[in-house]
Amino acid sequence: MSNAALFQTMTKGFDFAQAIAEADRCLLCLDPPCSKGCPAETDPGAFIRKLRLHNVTGAIRTIKSNNILGGACGVLCPTPRLCEKECSATGISRPVEIGKIQRALVEHGWKIGFQPFSVPVRNRGKVAVVGSGPAGLSCAAELAREGFAVTVYEERAEPGGVIRYGVPAYRFDKAFLSHEMADLAHLGVEFACGTRIEGSTGARKLLQQGFKAVFLGPGLWEAERMPGGEKVKGVLTSVEFLALMREEPFAGIGHQVEGKVVAVIGGGSVAMDCVESAAKLGARDAYLVYRRSFAQMPAEEDERLAALRLGVHFLMLNQPLGYAVDGKDSLTGVKLVRTRLGEPDASGRRKPETVKGSEWTLEAQLAIEAIGNRPDTADWSALVKTDKAGLVVTDETTRKTSTAFVFAGGDITRGAGLVVEAVQDGKRAARAIRAALD
Ligand SMILES: Cc1cc2nc3c(=O)[nH]c(=O)nc-3n(C[C@H](O)[C@H](O)[C@H](O)COP(=O)(O)OP(=O)(O)OC[C@H]3O[C@@H](n4cnc5c(N)ncnc54)[C@H](O)[C@@H]3O)c2cc1C
Ligand code: SF4
Repeated sequence: MSNAALFQTMTKGFDFAQAIAEADRCLLCLDPPCSKGCPAETDPGAFIRKLRLHNVTGAIRTIKSNNILGGACGVLCPTPRLCEKECSATGISRPVEIGKIQRALVEHGWKIGFQPFSVPVRNRGKVAVVGSGPAGLSCAAELAREGFAVTVYEERAEPGGVIRYGVPAYRFDKAFLSHEMADLAHLGVEFACGTRIEGSTGARKLLQQGFKAVFLGPGLWEAERMPGGEKVKGVLTSVEFLALMREEPFAGIGHQVEGKVVAVIGGGSVAMDCVESAAKLGARDAYLVYRRSFAQMPAEEDERLAALRLGVHFLMLNQPLGYAVDGKDSLTGVKLVRTRLGEPDASGRRKPETVKGSEWTLEAQLAIEAIGNRPDTADWSALVKTDKAGLVVTDETTRKTSTAFVFAGGDITRGAGLVVEAVQDGKRAARAIRAALD
């Protein structure tokens, strides 16, 4: 396989034999704690038990009917702090690798051509879903299975949201996503891609067009910026960089990274995706710049260790101040000041305080800002209650908004979250929509 193909194809998981061997370690708990650890109620206790009893298709059906993105979650979930954290086998040796079994089962289903769903009869009303990320897809699938006619409006050219345009392809690729999407097509979900719903006005129009309910799942696509970053050539946001990585890692963006010094600003999982991608693309030096300490980084432990193994330089306790540029406004470096940890702040973490006189400049040819995302310019506040940050306010268990027949879920309601949480929101909203329309 060529380097380019390797970069655009995700790493392999367990094969089916490995999944069976791993399932053999399961203690078949009667009241499985792992199942309580899954926010989307994928029910690992049940599907692993079925696999052990040689009911392979039953196991796959359990996963997919509980979680339409069961394959994606098997790949992307931070399982060590969800289902696997609860696993009883930990007391004996180590937790059962539930995520890997889940992924292998879903992939096995595709290999043997198993279709977990029958084609539903459409005998209920029309529902519109805004956004085809995990929240929208989950809501759409649940409703379609119940006989609703669902149309998903997506402003980008293809469906998937962050798992199509954000997560690097070596972690989650198009081929895998297209298998999951095939189940939505089988359920009769219709997609209107390249169609942006312009905030409150657009959503109101959908209700006037005969949709009985609307689910809002537009996610967070506007990047927070460092002051002045948008004016400097050689500074990208994580949203821009990761989208380019998905489309052309060995063309334009590849040339901007290969052999260069790249500085990624931020300490979360998105920053780790950016800095790892830069290192994999052949950056001479890939720096991760974070104003707090290594232990305080919000990124998962396995992501941090993977980046260390790739040779990423962790520049901790350094706060970016701005950019150094040449006469043509091209980046020459990131201006930094050292920090030290003071007393705990509102987040409970010790606050970074700048050290006077310690300003310095890290030479860099490319800087990537990964300091958080917010809702984009679509304004939902004339239709539903939003908070100061522009997030849509919903009831936690029903995902109802302040307006009848309008529901919302995923990152637009909870801020940056997880795929599995967005799936949960979609399911909860679908249940509430069904109840509202019955
Ligand atoms: C780089 C990155 C890596 C991540 N890695 C992981 C991971 O490994 N594991 C994990 O669990 N989570 C991960 N996450 C978080 C996870 O991807 C998100 O929590 C999840 O995708 C949120 O789903 P969503 O449906 O709310 O929104 P999104 O996935 O953001 O999807 C929203 C969709 O709505 C569309 N849209 C927006 N506005 C409109 C509009 N007005 N009209 C029509 N369409 C619109 C967008 O184009 C997009 O397709 C990652 C996030 C990022 C950014
Ligand atoms: S908690 Fe662990 S051991 Fe118990 S059923 Fe779940 S996977 Fe098996």
